[in-house]
Parts: sequence; C-alpha cells; structure tokens
Amino acid sequence: MTAEIISQKYKHVIWDWNGTILDDVKLCTDIINGILTKRNLPPLTLEKYKEVFTFPVIDYYKAAGLDISGNNFEIMSHEFINEYESKKLNCSIFKGSLEILELFRNKNISQSVLSAYSQHTLEETIKYFNLDAYFIKLVGLNNIFAASKTENGKKWIKELNINPSEVIMFGDTLHDFEVSREMGVDCILFSGGHQSKEVLASSGTMVFNSHLELL
Ligand SMILES: [Mg+2]
Repeated sequence: MTAEIISQKYKHVIWDWNGTILDDVKLCTDIINGILTKRNLPPLTLEKYKEVFTFPVIDYYKAAGLDISGNNFEIMSHEFINEYESKKLNCSIFKGSLEILELFRNKNISQSVLSAYSQHTLEETIKYFNLDAYFIKLVGLNNIFAASKTENGKKWIKELNINPSEVIMFGDTLHDFEVSREMGVDCILFSGGHQSKEVLASSGTMVFNSHLELL
C-alpha cells in the first residue's frame, strides 16, 4: 500500500495525532520517567515504553510500575499533562507526514483528526504547526484522562456521512485499530509512535515503519 493507492481507494482519511503525526514519543517517555524517578521507581527504556504503552492510559501507568490506587492516577495525570503542555511545542511532526497530508489534499481526499487528547491541546498544537487547513474536523476528548476515543469515533463516522468502506484510519496504537473496527473502517498503523512493531503486528492489520515508506 502506498499513499497514491490509498488516494485512489478511499475518500477520507482519519488521522490519529499523537505518535502518528506529532512525534511526541521522546517527550512522553521523558515525562513518565520523571514521574517514576520522583517516586523512586526505575525509568523505562524507549523499547520498554513502547511495550507497556496502552489505552486506557491508566493501564500503562500500572504496567510502568506506578501505584494507581486512590487518587494517585488523577494526581499523576495532572503532573503528566502540566509537563506535556509546557513542552509539547518543542516536538516536531514526523518526516513525510506533511507530504502525505499534501498528497491527499491534492487528490481531494478529505482528512480529519480523531485524538484521545483534550480538545484544547489538540486544537492548539495543530494550529501551532500550521496544519489546521488540512483537516475538515478535529475530534478530541473533553478531559485529560485519555481513556478511549471509541464513542467519539462512532459519532464522527456517522456525522461524516461517507461509506465506511471508503474511509481509512492512520494510527500508532492498537487502540486506533480497535476504534477503526468499531467504526467499520480500514486501518494502517505506524510503528514510529507509541507502540512497538511487535505489539502492533498482533492486530493483523498493515503496519508501516515510517511515513516515507508510504510515500
Ligand atoms: Mg497515537
């Protein structure tokens, strides 16, 4: 599959944002490692991070070794998001992602973003990278706890009013794949994001290593 073939087969592309367009993998690893070391717990290597990262995010905090009991998860979520908000604009977008957005736009394939991040963060970041003109809609969550985007996805596919067989989703996690199944759309996963190629391969869907590969 190449971006060119995708543009012949589909009418709409739904993008995940974090780890699919925005390369925030190093930032997220650094933040979770800050949270771990503050609690005298060993930090994660990048490889380990990409093994344990999952949705809902609370499960990955637990797998990383953090105590999520009581209000600990809420406290750590705020720690995470404060740090993330202050540093997110230092991230860059993945090599080749702009070229793919451009290619689809030139072929009149409409595009949108479906993200588990808060609506505010999503809009602000996409605007900062000057990418808002590529998308007909940005769908985020109304909280910071990154639980699931399934409900939003099902709502969006109805509203979009395009046959799901003509829609494809690009993501970097098994959750993106699960959401795509719920929406009835095809899915391509990218292993340069928050989960490893091995984890993603368990879905049985197409996995690509980089955006350049799609071009
Ligand atoms: Mg993602």
